[in-house]
Amino acid sequence: PSLTTRLYSEEDSVVILTSATVKQTLLNSSTAWLVQFYSSWCGHCIQYSPTWKALAGDVKGADRELQTVRQLMVNFLQNHTTQDWPVSCPPLEPYSSADILPLIGQKSNQYTAVIVENEDSYVGREVILDLMMYQGLTVKRALSSEKSLTEKLGINSFPSAYLLHPNGTHAILHVQKRLRFFFSSFLKLLLGVHRKLSTSGAPQEPLLEGPRGPGTAEALKDFEKSKVYMADLESGLHYLLRVELATHQTLEGEELKTFKDFVTVVAKLFPGRQSVVKLLETLLEWLVSLPLEKIPFDAILDLVNNKMRISGMFLSDQLQWVGCQGSRVGLRGYPCSLWTLFHVLTVQAASRPDALANTGLEENPKAVLQTMRKYIVNFFGCQECGKHFEEMAVASLPQVKSVDQAVLWLWRKHNQVNGRLAGTMSEDPHFPKTQWPSPDLCPTCHEEQDGIHVWNEDKVLMFLKQHYGAANISPKHMY
Ligand code: FAD
Repeated sequence: PSLTTRLYSEEDSVVILTSATVKQTLLNSSTAWLVQFYSSWCGHCIQYSPTWKALAGDVKGADRELQTVRQLMVNFLQNHTTQDWPVSCPPLEPYSSADILPLIGQKSNQYTAVIVENEDSYVGREVILDLMMYQGLTVKRALSSEKSLTEKLGINSFPSAYLLHPNGTHAILHVQKRLRFFFSSFLKLLLGVHRKLSTSGAPQEPLLEGPRGPGTAEALKDFEKSKVYMADLESGLHYLLRVELATHQTLEGEELKTFKDFVTVVAKLFPGRQSVVKLLETLLEWLVSLPLEKIPFDAILDLVNNKMRISGMFLSDQLQWVGCQGSRVGLRGYPCSLWTLFHVLTVQAASRPDALANTGLEENPKAVLQTMRKYIVNFFGCQECGKHFEEMAVASLPQVKSVDQAVLWLWRKHNQVNGRLAGTMSEDPHFPKTQWPSPDLCPTCHEEQDGIHVWNEDKVLMFLKQHYGAANISPKHMY
C-alpha cells in the first residue's frame, strides 16, 4: 500500500512489508512471523486494524516465549470477533454436555474427538487448530466442569480426549502422554483422516470409503509400521541397480567412483539374505579388480542378471513394496526404500564398527552419508530432490563427527524433508508425512519443555538403532 493509504505506521509495533522487502525479511528468518495481508480500502481491514495493533503491542511487550505467544494467538483468534466468524475457522469455544452427549453412539461420516480439559487449558484449542487443515475429523473441546459429560465418558483426569468413531463406537483415546503433540499426532494418523487438498473452502468429501479410497481395487498388504521390510530393501536395490543406473550407458570418473563406494558400503553393511550379500560382494570384487576407467552399464547388468545367478547369487527382479507400498501407483515405493536403505546402513555402520575394515572407509564416521550424498547427486532420478539434499549436506554434514551423529543427522534431515513435503502432491494421503517417529512408535522420544515440543535425541538414537537394526527387518511378503 502507498504511504498515504496504509493502515499502519512505523509507530505501531508492526513491521510493514512491501513486495520489495517481503522475501528478504521472511525467508530464512530465525523468528516466527504472523503476517497480515490487507487491503487499505477494505472496510473489514480498517475495522480490524486496531485489534492488529493491539496484538502487536501486546506481543512486543510480552514474554516472548513461544508458548506465551502461541497462547496469545489463540486468545486473539478466539476473541477478535464474535460476529463474522470465518467459515473455515473451527469454533474454539467449549461445547456443553447437551451438545456432546447426543453424538455418542451415533453413526457419522467422520470422527469426532472431544478434548475435555480445565478452563485455563490451551490443549483443546491448540489441537483444534492443529487439525484445522484435516478432513475426516472434527475436534471439539468441553470443560471438566461438565459433570454429566465427564461421568458418562468415564473421564476423571484432564486433559483427556474421547474419540467417537464413524461407526458409532466410542472410547477414551489412550496416548502415552497427555500433551498437545501426542493428541494431534494420534488424530492425524487415524485411517480416513487426511490433510485437505483444497484450500478453496469448498466442502470436502469424506474419505472413508475403503482402505484405498474409490477407484483402487487392490487392498493394502498387511504390514506393521514398527517394522522394516526386507522386501522394500531388496526391491529398492533391484530398482537402483537395474532401472536407475540404466539411464547411464557408461560409468566413468566421478560416477564410477560413486558407484564403487556405493557397492562397497552396501556389500559390507547390508544385513540381507546370503544370496544378495554374496551378489553384492562379488560385484564389488569385480569392480575393484577391473583396471578400467570406464565401465559399460550392460556389463554390470550382465553380471547381476546372468553370470552370478549360476552360482546361486540372486537379487529378485520383482518390485514388492510392503512398508513402502503406496495407496496408488506413483506414490511412495522407490524413494521410500532408498531412505530406508540408508537409515539401515547408517545404523549398521554405528553397530558394527569393523564392518568397513580394509575398504579405505573404515576411519570415516561419515562414510555412509557421503556415499549417499554422492549417489543422490549423481544418480537419483529426482534431480530437484538431489539439489535440496545437497544444500542440506553442504550446510550441516561437516558437523557430523561420529557414527552415532551420522544416524541422527540422516533422521533430522529426513524430517526436514518430511516437513517441507507435508501437504504437497507427493504426499500419499493414506501415509501422511509426519515428524517421525510419531509418539505411538516412540513415546519416550517426545517431550515438552515449557509447553514446546522437543525431541529427546538420546531416546531417538536408541529407537533408530532398534527400528533400523537387523533384528527388526521382517522377511514378510518376500519373493
Ligand atoms: P518417506 O519420506 O520416503 O519415508 C520412508 C519411511 O521412512 C517412512 O515410511 C517412515 O517409516 C520412515 N521415516 C520417515 N521419516 C523418517 C525420519 N525422519 N527418520 C527415519 N525414518 C523416517 N521428494 C520431493 O518431492 N522433493 C524433495 O526434495 C525430495 N527429496 C528427497 C531426498 C532424498 C534423499 C530422498 C531419498 C527422497 C526425496 N524425496 C523428495 C522423496 C520423498 O522424501 C519421499 O521419499 C517420497 O515422497 C515417498 O514418501 P513416503 O511417504 O514413502 O515416506
